[in-house]
Amino acid sequence: MSIATVNPATGQTEKTFDPHSDEQIDAAIGRAADGHRALRAVSVTERAGWMKAAADLLEADRDDIARTMTTEMGKTHAAAKAEVTKCAAAARFYADNAADFLADEPADAGAVNAVRAFTRYQPLGPVLAVMPWNFPLWQVMRFAAPALMAGNVGLLKHASNVPQTALYLADLFHRAGFPTGSFETLLIGSEQVERVLTDRRVRAATLTGSETAGRAIAQIAGRELKKMVLELGGSDPFVVMPSASLDRAAEVATTARCQNNGQSCIAAKRFIVHADVYDEFTEAFVARMSALRVGDPMDADTDVGPLASEHGRADVEEQVADAVDRGARVLCGGQRPDRPGWWYPPTVVADLTPQMRMWSEEVFGPVAGLYRVSSYAEAVEVANGTAFGLGSNAWTRDPDEQERFATDLDAGSVFVNGMTTSYPELPFGGVKNSGHGRELSAWGMREFCNIKTVWVGEGAATAGAGAHAE
Ligand code: NAP
Repeated sequence: MSIATVNPATGQTEKTFDPHSDEQIDAAIGRAADGHRALRAVSVTERAGWMKAAADLLEADRDDIARTMTTEMGKTHAAAKAEVTKCAAAARFYADNAADFLADEPADAGAVNAVRAFTRYQPLGPVLAVMPWNFPLWQVMRFAAPALMAGNVGLLKHASNVPQTALYLADLFHRAGFPTGSFETLLIGSEQVERVLTDRRVRAATLTGSETAGRAIAQIAGRELKKMVLELGGSDPFVVMPSASLDRAAEVATTARCQNNGQSCIAAKRFIVHADVYDEFTEAFVARMSALRVGDPMDADTDVGPLASEHGRADVEEQVADAVDRGARVLCGGQRPDRPGWWYPPTVVADLTPQMRMWSEEVFGPVAGLYRVSSYAEAVEVANGTAFGLGSNAWTRDPDEQERFATDLDAGSVFVNGMTTSYPELPFGGVKNSGHGRELSAWGMREFCNIKTVWVGEGAATAGAGAHAE
């Protein structure tokens, strides 16, 4: 894939970039290695000052960088601005909390025959971050803010369709005052990832992206014995039970499915509705999906812009066509408009069966699948019935059901009576084919730390009987 800004609203190529040469890649890794030595040598307080400066710069740059994001991948300018604000908040969260998250953690010294015993969190080194285009600033920031605060440095390989956002990020951390090499953007295609990850100076990798990319990175990292975090795809269930507030559920369902033009890993994608309320929910949901305004993503009145790429739109069209060919019904949308750019309308598809691709695959566009179930047990079975396990939603006012969903849904998160989203305060990640490891909160920061055990005795004689040496 060439490295270029191609406006999804028009299909026009706006800017192309030459991929970095082998020499440029090598120099960037060298700067990262030096940058790591510099960054780990300074205090968390000093890093926090730079991270807060990055937050201030993000806010000052908000409208401009949001316009770049909209031009590169089609999200509405309003959504892009909100994303910038969220990044600034995450930067401040880690600036404020890193010292606590990284503080030595005392253990019960007596139980391990020590005078003192504790856990110390230390950085690993340069981390390769392979990132997707859908939240081009946020996906990177939720890795970079905790990683840099811990003293790691980042080597970003961003998606090939968001090069200007990628270059902005390197510039951001540089302007904020971080030492040279703390955050480098590599303009490279996916075929160059192996070269970077096999470099001995690169200590770990994080990928947010598709299952296919996850398997490719996992193979390399596994072979090289390097730590990795994988944030992969999802097909989140959104379960509606009879006691739910149906109007609110339909409203949130619409946002949850169509946010970011339907291209979010944690978008609700499968709407699993109890038969007692199926007709009422469906009517309200279809009315709301049909009422969304599709149009110019720079226009403040627009709800849904174009899909990010021509092949992304083709994938969505093929999945809907496959379902229709096998007997599914389209309740709204389903036809691309006749205009330049990669548009696809909010769409609801009913009567899905396991033979249809939509049943088991992730649909990365504003297309909702509807499923009618007749019991709690069937709802959980359908919800857990894919290879994914990223987020999940349950709508019920029954306290007993709320508890049961929290336990029974096979996912990295369960949101009850609200939309699945990410917060710096809460861990984020998936199970099954949605990946492993966690981002955000203290958990995310420690993924790229050496969790070092420190045991201090008075001398060899005090270790005493029962001490266990590895
Ligand atoms: P993608 O095609 O996997 O691309 C993601 C990144 O991986 C890009 O930088 C891409 O580079 C790179 N890449 C692709 N194939 C690779 C390979 N074989 N080896 C090394 N790198 C490779 O995914 P996408 O289409 O951008 O994003 C959509 C997917 O990401 C969806 O499945 C979505 O659910 C998932 N996602 C997950 C999360 C989460 O937090 N769990 C968040 C957002 C998105 P190029 O652009 O150069 O190909």
